[in-house]
Amino acid sequence: MRRYVIVGTGVAGIAAAEAIRQVDPQGQILLIGDEPDGYYSRPGLAYFLTGEIPEKQLFPFRAEDFRRLRLTWWHDRVTRIDPARHVLQVQKRPEPVRYDRLLLATGSAAVRPDWPGIDLQGVVKLDTLPDARTIRRLARKAKAAVVVGGGITALEIVEGLLRHKVQVHYLLRGDRYWRRVLDEEESRLVERRLAHDGVRLHYRTQVAEILGRKGRVTGVRTTDGRVIPCQMVAVAVGVRPRLALARQAGLRTERGIVVDEFMQTSAPDIFAAGDVAQVYDPRAGRAVLDVLWPVARRQGQTAGYNMAGHTTAYRRGTPLNVTRLAGVTTTIVGQVGQAGPEDEDLVGIIRGDSEVWRDIPDAIVAQEGFDVNRLRVMVGQKHLLGAVLMGDQTLSRPLYTLIERQVDISAIRPALLEGRRPVADVLADFWSQWSRDHGTPRAQ
Ligand SMILES: Cc1cc2nc3c(=O)[nH]c(=O)nc-3n(C[C@H](O)[C@H](O)[C@H](O)COP(=O)(O)OP(=O)(O)OC[C@H]3O[C@@H](n4cnc5c(N)ncnc54)[C@H](O)[C@@H]3O)c2cc1C
Repeated sequence: MRRYVIVGTGVAGIAAAEAIRQVDPQGQILLIGDEPDGYYSRPGLAYFLTGEIPEKQLFPFRAEDFRRLRLTWWHDRVTRIDPARHVLQVQKRPEPVRYDRLLLATGSAAVRPDWPGIDLQGVVKLDTLPDARTIRRLARKAKAAVVVGGGITALEIVEGLLRHKVQVHYLLRGDRYWRRVLDEEESRLVERRLAHDGVRLHYRTQVAEILGRKGRVTGVRTTDGRVIPCQMVAVAVGVRPRLALARQAGLRTERGIVVDEFMQTSAPDIFAAGDVAQVYDPRAGRAVLDVLWPVARRQGQTAGYNMAGHTTAYRRGTPLNVTRLAGVTTTIVGQVGQAGPEDEDLVGIIRGDSEVWRDIPDAIVAQEGFDVNRLRVMVGQKHLLGAVLMGDQTLSRPLYTLIERQVDISAIRPALLEGRRPVADVLADFWSQWSRDHGTPRAQ
């Protein structure tokens, strides 16, 4: 009987276990994870933070789902892997654990800047369910908070704090929000909404020191010498794949664990999937990182099939996220990157992010905007390469499908670029014709 060991009980690890069980009804599946809360929805944490969903709604699996998969589950931490002997070591048991096939699905962790005062009580991040609980607990008492960072997570924390009536100071190192993914008008739309909700935006402002008294946060001193009094400081400057185990085991790593199309690492019988994996993308022509839930699930599933002997190549889809930025529903799909300097608010990648989004496409922009509804489409020679939709989401799924399937849009290219008719109307008409001819694809 084959023994499968999965390190990490996030969506990639669970998807792998499900795939293994589909192929191998007999094999022994051992899941090892160091989080006491086990498997829960990380994207859901934002909605838990604002009180829109209760904690129990974060858990996609019930006890019978685990029973059905016949998993053995250890709450433990893997400390070492010996690829030559096919064994690993865990914290709570002295004896080595044997594996036939091993999956590393260890995810990514928030970057922790080395600012003076970073260890004070009241400094928070949003990685895990305990983090979300802490933010909620502290927000009940805090009058003011400083939020630092860019991208989605920083705004999720801002929204959570606003719901608790905390005065939020949002510090941006640069001169606009999420500059490598959003264009200037999109950034300004988000910033206007934040200001309207009472957030104080501080541009070109950095933390010099977090101030405290009796071990608790009392304020932030900025590099230009100002002091912002506050009781909480939230840091969301980016995440890094957890590579310690892979490095110790001598696996090939770059920004993540490098895997081939079968999710196999450089060591025999060791696979990697999810936030920790860096996977070759034929469209981008290089191996990229994604920090996206559906991508982690698909990668975990592919790894599981291959671990169980059912050879399956990973087909990297177009990265998609439907999220909320300052209350505006926003879809980001494909290549939408903006030329210019690096995003100063972020260290590498963030949650709910794909490196592909930052690729600057060889495309012309077709766009329109009205109030909070904005549409930006990256128009290539024959295909659409990417899109950002803010507000009205009617075209979200159609655009995803047109981009993902590389549908030939030559027929509407002139109309998209001329600007005589609204871009949304041109796309909507094309979509209704295309979906009549091809059938409406199932949701991904
Ligand atoms: C606040 C937030 C908002 C997000 N928003 C979105 C969104 O809008 N859209 C989207 O698509 N994605 C979003 N994401 C990202 C998405 O949740 C992740 O891409 C996905 O959860 C990654 O799954 P994973 O299984 O690879 O890793 P994880 O879910 O991180 O699981 C890895 C697990 O491995 C454990 N582990 C690590 N090392 C060890 C060890 N040595 N021994 C034992 N266990 C170990 C970790 O503790 C963790 O439990 C968000 C994430 C967060 C936190």
